[in-house]
Amino acid sequence: MAKGPTVAMVVSEVEPFSKTGGLADVAGALPKALAAQGVQTHLFTPRYACVGEKKRPSVRMSPGFTVHFIDHPQYFAARPHLYGGADGDYPDNLDRFSFFCRESLSRMKKEGIRPDLLHAHDWQGALSIVYLEKGPRRDPFFSKTKTVLTIHNLAYQGIFPKEEYPKLGLPWGLFSIEGLEFYGKVNLLKGGIAFGRALTTVSPTYAREIQNPDFGEGLDGILRVRSSELTGILNGIDVESWDPSKDRSLPARFDPRRLSKKSKVKAALQKEVGFPVDSSRFLIGMVSRLASQKGMELVIQALPRLEALGIQLVILGSGDKPIQEALRRAAAPSLSVRLRLAFDLNLARRIYAGADAFLMPSRYEPCGLGQMISMRYGTVPIVRATGGLNDTVRESGPGGNGFCFGPYQSGALVEALKRALSVYREKPRWEEIQRRGMTADFSWKRSAGEYLQLYRKLIFS
Ligand code: ADP
Repeated sequence: MAKGPTVAMVVSEVEPFSKTGGLADVAGALPKALAAQGVQTHLFTPRYACVGEKKRPSVRMSPGFTVHFIDHPQYFAARPHLYGGADGDYPDNLDRFSFFCRESLSRMKKEGIRPDLLHAHDWQGALSIVYLEKGPRRDPFFSKTKTVLTIHNLAYQGIFPKEEYPKLGLPWGLFSIEGLEFYGKVNLLKGGIAFGRALTTVSPTYAREIQNPDFGEGLDGILRVRSSELTGILNGIDVESWDPSKDRSLPARFDPRRLSKKSKVKAALQKEVGFPVDSSRFLIGMVSRLASQKGMELVIQALPRLEALGIQLVILGSGDKPIQEALRRAAAPSLSVRLRLAFDLNLARRIYAGADAFLMPSRYEPCGLGQMISMRYGTVPIVRATGGLNDTVRESGPGGNGFCFGPYQSGALVEALKRALSVYREKPRWEEIQRRGMTADFSWKRSAGEYLQLYRKLIFS
């Protein structure tokens, strides 16, 4: 295999060491898929308590993929969480993650890792780009290194009071509207957006959406300025782990040729959550963080309509207390809903596999994994056409693989459910949609190919 570029990733969480969300999945899976295409990845990440006491400074995960831990016991190992607990973010997050970024660059130098590309992720990694591109003593060691920032969710930006700016060790000239200044405060993500040579986000539609004020979280202006450097690359899913023909947590296994076995999983799920076991009832699943992003309010408004449609809905969710309470109140009088307020990876698998359809009515969705996972299990997605949902689910045309609605309204959601239900009643049509989803390519191989193309373009620019 031709030797590919060397990439240094600066990322604040990575599977299997630390995780609060999809970022960790990407950081764990992308380097492996890149390695298969000849890329050497050195990933730098904090050594939190959950990483364990192992003294080794680096771990070789697989050929072409090494994880280097950044140590600062007081900042990382001594804390129970990654970014903050129930009381909010840790107050010294600027100190913690500016240290992390500076130290990642020092480690590269110390270890003689001269990357062709520095690929930073989200606000926690963004400063590594600022230091490399604009640091007071631009280090000649990195003179050939190009920089890329990936935004996984624009809602999280790393905003701090202006008084903390001097701690960054950056010139005041960078505290400007073209740099890290944001309404009088310091915005770390904005620094990465301003100075990264290339910017990516996790779906083409989200890349467009964040350039308008409705989705831009106050950064749409600078994103429009950088528009020609901003692209969207869809995440993949781990197709080995999410595989209905091998999944040990299911009561039966199936694949596109043995689709009838899926009905056993459905019956078991109906029984498990306390619904009447009835193969003809349309069973919809949801597995979701309970955050305003995820559109639960539309589901709550639509609940009274489900009964008349004969739909069964099972929701597995964890997160915001007020959304939990609202869901509990709305679900209590309904015979059509079963609510599990928990984070339960195994029940999630049984829902992905056992439901007929999977609902994601998100207000916004940078990429979304649930719709891809559910398709892999022959469970047809019903989604609001936003962000990555819009890029992966198509309702009409020969490639149709699910059901979509546009307006953020419960009426539009109910109409989409009705359309899905009517196709569900026509078994051959429904099965065709199921098989299309099951055989689609959602692997990391495809995503990694797109990242590699971008890396090459930057290297040769
Ligand atoms: P986000 O990263 O915004 O939460 P994604 O759709 O990208 O949304 O990824 C969510 C992932 O977390 C999926 O793999 C989903 O199965 C999992 N997940 C979310 N909530 C739960 C839960 N309550 N129990 C188990 N898994 C969950």
